[in-house]
Amino acid sequence: VEQDKIRNFCIIAHIDHGKSTLADRFIQYSHIVEDRQFREQMLDSMDIERERGITIKSQTVNLPYTAEDGNTYVFNLVDTPGHVDFSYEVSRAIYSCEGALLLIDATQGVEAQTLANMYLALEHDLEILPVINKIDLPAADIEGVKEQIEHELGLDPDDAVCISAKTGKNVEELFEHIVKKIPAPSGDLEAAPKALIFDSHYDPYRGVVLYVRVFEGEIKEGDTMLLMSSGASYEIEEVGHLRLKGIPQKSLRAGEIGYVIAGVKTIRDIRVGDTITIKEKPASQPLPGFKEVKPVVYSSIFPVDSNQYEELGKALEKLVLNDASLVYEKTSSVALGFGFKCGFLGLLHLEVVQERLEREFDLAVVFTAPSVQYRITQKDGTIITIETPDEYPDVTKIEKVEEPYIKAIIITPNEYVGGIMNLCMEKRGVQTSLLYLDKKRVELIYEMPLAEVLFDFYDRLKSISRGYASFDYDLIGLRETNLVKLDILVNGKPVDALSQLVFKDNAASRARAICKKLREEIPRHQFKIPIQGAVGSQIIARETISALRKDVTAKCYGGDITRKRKLLEKQKEGKKRMKMVGDVEVPQRAFLSALKAS
Ligand code: GDP
Ligand code: MG
Repeated sequence: VEQDKIRNFCIIAHIDHGKSTLADRFIQYSHIVEDRQFREQMLDSMDIERERGITIKSQTVNLPYTAEDGNTYVFNLVDTPGHVDFSYEVSRAIYSCEGALLLIDATQGVEAQTLANMYLALEHDLEILPVINKIDLPAADIEGVKEQIEHELGLDPDDAVCISAKTGKNVEELFEHIVKKIPAPSGDLEAAPKALIFDSHYDPYRGVVLYVRVFEGEIKEGDTMLLMSSGASYEIEEVGHLRLKGIPQKSLRAGEIGYVIAGVKTIRDIRVGDTITIKEKPASQPLPGFKEVKPVVYSSIFPVDSNQYEELGKALEKLVLNDASLVYEKTSSVALGFGFKCGFLGLLHLEVVQERLEREFDLAVVFTAPSVQYRITQKDGTIITIETPDEYPDVTKIEKVEEPYIKAIIITPNEYVGGIMNLCMEKRGVQTSLLYLDKKRVELIYEMPLAEVLFDFYDRLKSISRGYASFDYDLIGLRETNLVKLDILVNGKPVDALSQLVFKDNAASRARAICKKLREEIPRHQFKIPIQGAVGSQIIARETISALRKDVTAKCYGGDITRKRKLLEKQKEGKKRMKMVGDVEVPQRAFLSALKAS
């Protein structure tokens, strides 16, 4: 394909504004799949993505399009993840494109994530095409959205294409716009090769498949590719175009997007954002913007049934094949036995891993309280970083503790501003800006501790604003904090898996909430069970579960043996989801709800 016939673009949209639906229309109209094989949300490959309507793993497709001018163009649609947890991957995908469709739901208008991603696209000099979606809905406010496009985004509203991704209305018109408005890629075909890895996935038969954008030169089968950040080299086995399956090609040339297979065994050996060049003709400088992504949230995972420890290990091993951002190492807990300490990109990432372990691997697991990474300066001058309560040093040795802060951007209809400001204040937020975007909407900017956002911030923001407020954040660095380790004791025994690192002023209320939840969730035993929250030796919260004597078979008046057996089996079934803490049976659910309590 000639460079001038290529259009590389992505779709930027807030969650639910219709990105996946529009991608479906692109796939359908290009006829790369037969109608009978077509299904909805083609690009969202995991069940969880489909159910939750979010894209976790991006997929890219190469779509032929014959335009009104008679030429056949190639559209490379780069699908990007739609959640703040995955913003680095979004930035690499954006960098691989010349243009972006900024998709806005006509019934919702511009939202925080739309803005954040548009800034990213502008930073990379992308041509931005505003697209107003869902115009088939009666509540569509096209004029209102056009006004926002002009005043909030600073784009020309006359360029906006109004479509319905669902019915297909005006979608062909959008295609013509893409041909005319989005610039073709450029890049010297003869230069030393430079290709950006913007994504990857693991194929059990072929090893790691790299998704790349070639910026300069040409890469082909038989070349020795060199990864510029690590210096590792591999022989290229195959290159090709992405049409939901790989279509092998002789080479990939400057301007093209495609895949590379080169005998890379594990996803750990490559980094999204790295530059590929060719050993025989190496580039001197990598492409800019490479960054090593690091986890921001930590939690340990334990199997409910300790016999499943090895299975859990194998499941994690499988998950990381396709998810290089998930990191884990072995750990152990007095209460829960052997498990794995894991690092995640955010809470959503954590929840996705949890759901996949339970669904795809049929494992019952317990997660410990999610924690951020703290930096502790000790009295002897040494600095350590810790992510779990068990790493917390002796308090007498601590000079100071620092925690990560974020800049939070919240956009909300103005009637919810008061409630949101109270929430942010409660979460130790400091307001740095309040801006009226238009008559109805306000943008609030706060600096606040990441740890506060990990708990119920997002849910509460949504409930205060009846779902209308949107939220995005960036990490901005470390600030000093007053941290304590909160322990939870069940029947006098500390349950290490329930320990948490918390801001001192939050300790008492957090402890009370957890104790109360545990009292509700732990079934009565034949003895009395005290549940306590403690900081050091000081008890700051207390609940008691009273004793109960209960013979479940007692009401089965002798004879009916099958009923009796059924009852016992049912009880046994319930026990599978129980974890023994000393003499106390704690249901798996109790750990989860205790951690959500606040
Ligand atoms: P994404 O989160 O941006 O990928 O959004 P989806 O494509 O999953 O769409 C979110 C919801 O909006 C789904 O229920 C879609 O069926 C619906 N939707 C998407 N586009 C349209 C449209 O043009 N009209 C209507 N009525 N609904 C749409
Ligand atoms: Mg989607």
